[in-house]
Amino acid sequence: MLEFGNRSRASGTEALGISEGIVHWNLPPDQLISMALDNGQAKMTTGGAITIDTGEFTGRSPKDKFTVKDAITEKSVWWNNFNIPFDALKFEKLYHKMLRYFDGKEFFVRDAFACADPRYRMNIRVINEYAWSNLFVYNMFIRPTEEELLSFTPEWTVLNAPGFKADPAADGTRQHNFSIIDFTRKIILVGGSGYTGEIKKGVFSALNFILPHQKNVLAMHCSANVGEHGDTAIFFGLSGTGKTTLSADPKRKLIGDDEHGWTEDNTIFNFEGGCYAKTIDLTEEKEPEIFHAIKKGALLENVGFKPGTNDVDYADCARTENTRVSYPIDFIHNIARPSLAKNPKNIFFLTCDAYGVLPPISKLTPGQAAFHFISGYTAKVAGTEAGVTEPTMTFSACFGAPFMPLHPTKYAEMLSRKMKEAGVNVWMVNTGWSGGSYGVGRRMSLKYTRALITAALNGELDNVKYDNHEVFGVAMPTTCPDVPSEILNPRNTWRDKDAYDHKAHDLAEAFLKNFEKFSAYANKEILAGAPSLTVIR
Ligand code: ATP
Ligand code: MN
Repeated sequence: MLEFGNRSRASGTEALGISEGIVHWNLPPDQLISMALDNGQAKMTTGGAITIDTGEFTGRSPKDKFTVKDAITEKSVWWNNFNIPFDALKFEKLYHKMLRYFDGKEFFVRDAFACADPRYRMNIRVINEYAWSNLFVYNMFIRPTEEELLSFTPEWTVLNAPGFKADPAADGTRQHNFSIIDFTRKIILVGGSGYTGEIKKGVFSALNFILPHQKNVLAMHCSANVGEHGDTAIFFGLSGTGKTTLSADPKRKLIGDDEHGWTEDNTIFNFEGGCYAKTIDLTEEKEPEIFHAIKKGALLENVGFKPGTNDVDYADCARTENTRVSYPIDFIHNIARPSLAKNPKNIFFLTCDAYGVLPPISKLTPGQAAFHFISGYTAKVAGTEAGVTEPTMTFSACFGAPFMPLHPTKYAEMLSRKMKEAGVNVWMVNTGWSGGSYGVGRRMSLKYTRALITAALNGELDNVKYDNHEVFGVAMPTTCPDVPSEILNPRNTWRDKDAYDHKAHDLAEAFLKNFEKFSAYANKEILAGAPSLTVIR
């Protein structure tokens, strides 16, 4: 085996299980970038970031995500469409098959940490087939110092081979691509897909099991930032609802944009060391922090160029709507170092309601908060296909069902308890449609959403008059600085009030239907937080 780079003295090449080839240990980003450019997998952009094509997959593949069913997981994991069981022996075989795939190849290893709170730090070793995937790992996880690298011993290992294709009949997968977690061996296999998010969300899924189940730390799919006076805010929400966009606030220090823990002593800590932002329709004017983070070292995925140039065309969705960029968190100017803070004061549930029913901001009671957390609602428009006018409704428990191995009530109970202990305000923010559903209304202006959040954070919504929403019962402020009062009650923004009432009724019905499977676990307080169908006509 030929070896290059900086490797651990404690756990080196012999520990990899790969017998021959060329291994690049912990290469600095510059070298990975040159190698990806030289082998033709990456292109240089005008701004200095490189861009790559993730191949067949430009997003995660939830149906191909498995968890090994064994003594640790059998009785603790909530087996469902997102937590699909995988046989331990089949895993063992596939693992060795993947190791043999690496034999004789040139590949990349990176040692990194997850969890900014040293008490929960997890050592991760990622073995990548491609240089750019290794750059992603550098950008997204917490980077050890040179000294820490020398003594690094991996606890978890991720094997990532986009070019490896499973044989479903022999290997027990659904199709050629797969992402499988084994909690006993502490190994994650990602094969057949180059989508980098699979690596990130694989580690996230592992932490979402380990932290609440074994360490009494709540794991959350949320972004977080902290104000000048040390007041922490967290933003839950499904994909595309605004976690990354809204947590990048020049007046507040960014803690992280996607994955956090909440400890027993009220610390909020980031799991990651980088951000993974959507770049579709990105502009400097609307999202300056993210725009300026796209520089040398950042890794763009699946974006197009303006004709005849290497200027990124952020409006180009020819490859996918899900164009992305990863960068180390310190590419954002105002950040918390290390990525943690105390004292959570405000929680925002972000939803992109393409039906235009939910208010732009509303305040929730503890019962409503628990109800909406377990529901995890958002509705998006599928994409930009011609003729698609109906939004698709999603209910994803805890705003992240695909990454939550435990039953939703486990996370919900922990959150409810913590919210009460910390005395937080809970707000629901609709970053989706206003003035009608998709096709009639328009997406809420980012400027207004930011102003609403700023007002909530600054206490400017503490002493204003509130109205309760007729169907959802949530409290809507009637005034807010820098936001026109007319938009605060969504019904006012619809020309056809009857149509609004119908849509609100339909949405409430969908919430209640979705909640049926959880009602057995819910107490009176939570059930009282549900929308009510009796008020309409
Ligand atoms: P993921 O979990 O997939 O990373 P996310 O919750 O971080 O998703 P963002 O990356 O912040 O989502 O995406 C929100 C997108 O919606 C951005 O492209 C942003 O520009 C756009 N957007 C438009 N209007 C608004 C608004 N009012 N509030 C928030 N985002 C908005
Ligand atoms: Mn995000």
